[in-house]
Order: sequence, then C-alpha cells, then structure tokens
Amino acid sequence: KHQQAQKDRQEKLAQLDPKEYTKFTKFSELPLSRQTLIGLRGAHFIEMTGIQKEAIPPALQGQDILGAAKTGSGKTLAFLIPLIEMLLREDWNEFDGVGALIISPTRELAMQIYEVLLNIGKHSSFSCGLVIGGKDFKYESERIGKINVLIGTPGRLLQHMDQSANLNINNLQMLILDEADRILDMGFKKTLDSIISSIPPQRQTLLFSATQTKSVQDLARLSLTNPKYINSSSDL
Ligand code: ADP
Ligand code: MG
Repeated sequence: KHQQAQKDRQEKLAQLDPKEYTKFTKFSELPLSRQTLIGLRGAHFIEMTGIQKEAIPPALQGQDILGAAKTGSGKTLAFLIPLIEMLLREDWNEFDGVGALIISPTRELAMQIYEVLLNIGKHSSFSCGLVIGGKDFKYESERIGKINVLIGTPGRLLQHMDQSANLNINNLQMLILDEADRILDMGFKKTLDSIISSIPPQRQTLLFSATQTKSVQDLARLSLTNPKYINSSSDL
C-alpha cells in the first residue's frame, strides 16, 4: 500500500507540465507523502508562499533550482519539503550515509533549519545532524557516520570532510545552498568550491539566495545543471 502510494505520487509528478507548476496553492494539493502532510499540518503550514509554489513542484521532479526571494518569504520549506520527499522516495536508511547536505552561512541559521526539519520531518525516520563551529568537533565526528541529513556551516563541514573518517558522503543525492549570497559575502567562496568539488556530481542542487548577485551567478554556473530560475517577489 505504501509502495503503491509512492508510485501514484511519482506518476502524478512525472505528468506535471511546467505550465502547471503554480496551479497548487495549498501544501495538501501537492503529491506529498502522508508523513510530510501530517508534519506540515501539525505546524499549521497550509497555504504556500510564492517561492514555495514555484520551487517545490520542479524540485520534487528532480530539477536543479536557482531561487531568489527576499528574507522571510519561506525559502526553508521550499527546500526541506523536496529533501524529505527524496529520502522517502529513495527509502533512505542509516546505512546509506549522508543523502542530503545543507550549507548555511551561520550557526544560527543552521540551527533554525535543523529545528524546522525536525518539526515537519518528525513522522519520518531519517536522522539529521548539525555541524557548526563552537561545538565539540570530536563529538560531532563520532556521530556523523549515522547522519542522513547534514546541516552545517562551510568551514566546519569542510573540516569534517577532511578529518572525519566515519563521514560517508559518496551517495549524496541532494545539495542545498541556503543564503548563497551571504555565504559568499562572508568569504566562503574557496571553502564552498572545495566542498562542491568533493561531492558526487550526479546530485540535485537547490540554491537559494535573497539577492541575485554576480557571484551567486558564478556559483550557480559551477554547482547547478540546467537549473530552473525562480525570482519570486510575491509573498503568497
Ligand atoms: P526565508 O528563509 O525566505 O527568509 P523562512 O523560511 O525562514 O524564510 O520563513 C519565514 C517565516 O515564515 C518563518 O517564521 C516560517 O515559519 C514562516 N512560513 C514559511 N512558510 C510558510 C507558510 N507556507 N505558511 C505560513 N508561514 C510560513
Ligand atoms: Mg532562510
């Protein structure tokens, strides 16, 4: 029954034409898993914001996304929902290693993403972990082998990629770059390039940014494949 529902969702997504991407206005209208719909409803997320309406359907179809929308427009759910659905679709388990990597410019933003993921993903069984500066590296390193969704700041992530023997990132399905403009403004260009060059190229990448700068476009050229461009100015 579970597999049939998954198949039905996949079919619905495969048939979805790009012209129809924005026809859904509520999360409940999207072909999402029961777990995710329950998580969203429990958090009182009902209507989608503009960026969510535009980004979630193509991201669910597996496309790369370059999304620009101002702060407060709801970008977090625009990437977390496709991420959770991917893990369910792939039947991801603790032995598969890191399935999705989320890079955030600051500890505070990384922690916020982590909280939202725990909240809306609480009916699914994947594990998520935060790797941010200021916490015990060894503690993180010992647990990192069992993490399916890794959320972190660029410097700390690269440090784990270099030094944590337990980290298995070879099966990575999805890379998310959140607040890419800020990551670059903070001087993490080289760190990002190093991370991106040592993860599997056959992954889906979702890049979100508050502004579309030249350096964001350069990064997009390096990290995205045939992306869908979304520039959302509306809130709902
Ligand atoms: P951004 O990353 O674009 O700055 P966030 O993802 O942090 O924005 O969301 C901003 C605020 O809007 C958060 O408090 C979040 O809970 C809320 N929010 C996001 N999406 C929705 C939605 N569909 N319905 C209601 N509130 C939402
Ligand atoms: Mg954000």
